[in-house]
Amino acid sequence: MLSLLWNLIGDDSAAESKALAGMLKEHPELPDWSGAVQPLLDRLRHYNGIQRQVVCRVLSGMPFNALALSHKTIVLAESLVDFCRGQTHQMAFVVAHELSHIHRGHAREQSRATAMAGMLAANPLFAIGVKTLLNRVCSRENEFEADRDAIAFCHRAGYSVQAGAEFLERLRSGELPNGVIQQLMSTHPPLSERLAEMRGGTERLRANPTE
Ligand SMILES: [Zn+2]
Repeated sequence: MLSLLWNLIGDDSAAESKALAGMLKEHPELPDWSGAVQPLLDRLRHYNGIQRQVVCRVLSGMPFNALALSHKTIVLAESLVDFCRGQTHQMAFVVAHELSHIHRGHAREQSRATAMAGMLAANPLFAIGVKTLLNRVCSRENEFEADRDAIAFCHRAGYSVQAGAEFLERLRSGELPNGVIQQLMSTHPPLSERLAEMRGGTERLRANPTE
């Protein structure tokens, strides 16, 4: 049932191109900025044996966030990249988190679930499949998994394993306006929970650095 639906929705690459074109129309890309972040992504992929070609696009004027599209694109808001200016390791953590979403197919599930949710009104028979999938996709577990991966990816690529926690601490410490944080939190688990999980992961890596 689900595979049939996915065929109806079309392939990931086409869906992604469409989504990206829409975003670019509203928020033009800053090619120099994308070019500055891309080497971090390439290094993360290289040291983690991730073959899939993934590209970074930095978009102007978009709300503070980072997101993974379904196929091969990581979209970063100009404001987020600016926030990480001079903090290469924190930028690497953000990119690694999104890379995990693509690598594990979280982003693909998400876009399919969204597309299917859109079909619900047209056909109530899809409801059960959609509900099952949405529960899985929207589970906070995906976010924690991406954080855990990000620490491991950074570790293997020679980036600081502390940088993720430092980045979240900076978000928590009020460096950004409140509205920005609230919007970010609507799609992610609370910062305190992510930080606690992350410290556990960092401790495990310290205890077993070859992991
Ligand atoms: Zn995420």
